Amino acid sequence: MRVPLLDLKPQYQSLKKELDEAIIKVAESQHFILGPEVSAMEKEFCDYLNCKHALGVSSGTDALLLALMAIDVKPGDEVIVPTYSFFASAGVIARLFATPVFVENDPVTFNIDPKDFEKKITSKTKAVIPVHLYGQSADIEEIVSIAKAHNIIVVEDAAQAIGAQYKDGRFVGTIGDIGCFSFFPSKNLGCFGDGGLVTTNNDELAKILTIKRVHGGEPKYYHKVIGGNFRIDALQAAVIRVKLPHLDKWSEKRRQNAKRYTQLFIDAGLAQEPGKTKFDGKNKVLLPAAIYEKSGVKNYHIYNQYIVRVEQRDAMREFLTKNEIGTEIYYPVPFHLQECFKYLGHKKGDFPISEFSADTSIALPIYPELSDEQLIYVVETFKKFFNN
Ligand SMILES: *Cc1c(COP(=O)(O)O)cnc(C)c1O
Repeated sequence: MRVPLLDLKPQYQSLKKELDEAIIKVAESQHFILGPEVSAMEKEFCDYLNCKHALGVSSGTDALLLALMAIDVKPGDEVIVPTYSFFASAGVIARLFATPVFVENDPVTFNIDPKDFEKKITSKTKAVIPVHLYGQSADIEEIVSIAKAHNIIVVEDAAQAIGAQYKDGRFVGTIGDIGCFSFFPSKNLGCFGDGGLVTTNNDELAKILTIKRVHGGEPKYYHKVIGGNFRIDALQAAVIRVKLPHLDKWSEKRRQNAKRYTQLFIDAGLAQEPGKTKFDGKNKVLLPAAIYEKSGVKNYHIYNQYIVRVEQRDAMREFLTKNEIGTEIYYPVPFHLQECFKYLGHKKGDFPISEFSADTSIALPIYPELSDEQLIYVVETFKKFFNN
């Protein structure tokens, strides 16, 4: 049985008529950059996320870069970021010639450890970028309260977490000062190319973000500040507008798939319960924690990725590939061990929890349209590996 890591075709087929019409409408309007489609999309995101301002931008990476430019991050500033995330979370800091300062992640949630964050604060710290990794909210209230006490700006990297909620029900990306989202096709809400969104409840920041999205001219061609071309185009906005009303249904399906995987792994005798952090005879597979299930609080995890950890990760991955199961490693090298950040002087062992995840994690297919047979097949293949 073939189980790809992600198959976007069934989603397109289910909305083909509406999507094709939306694209043709933009073609007929010949209005390609920003404009009414983008404004309408932005309004719909304000309603959906319950935030004051939302701005369509060119990608999730550009959302982060624009956010850091809006708060005037410059050489000499330090910006704190978890060492275990997608490269863009740290890359944008270095691109502005500021200094990335890395933080350890929590062993259960994979998200930024608030205590280690607090330890890394110095007089040069300008901002922190908590990442809501794999679709689960970081401990964002704790991060915001520590940041406030030290006058640090919070830029949420919610690229993998659109529609995810913190335990009090607020949407991630609307709790810090600026939220950053991505519409890259493999995210839960993907467009037909690159796209992203920045959000804020702060009127002053919204104004700066708007100006810097288009080169920083205010009025046009008169520059008090420097911005860039961070615009989203109307075609991408039109696609997103068709898909947004379906997002919650798709996230719900991902959550059901996650729950099913968890049960199947437990039934197969490969794990005892989610959230374990050490391998033993009864936990050959470490399952991602679904904290919300235990505590009855919201903490709505949207499972952009379902990440398990196994000791013989590379051998397991090879075995799954041989059995036509698509997987990926998010992410094999934490930032502090990346060659491009060698100048920061880190070494192996500096962030043992993140290194452990980087060495053992493997992403399994979790997209909404997977069949139960496919989920069963994935777990059976794991079992076969251990019985070999
Ligand atoms: C995808 C992603 C980004 C970047 O988004 P793009 O739209 O691909 O530029 C940033 N941060 C995280 C955590 C991501 O997963």
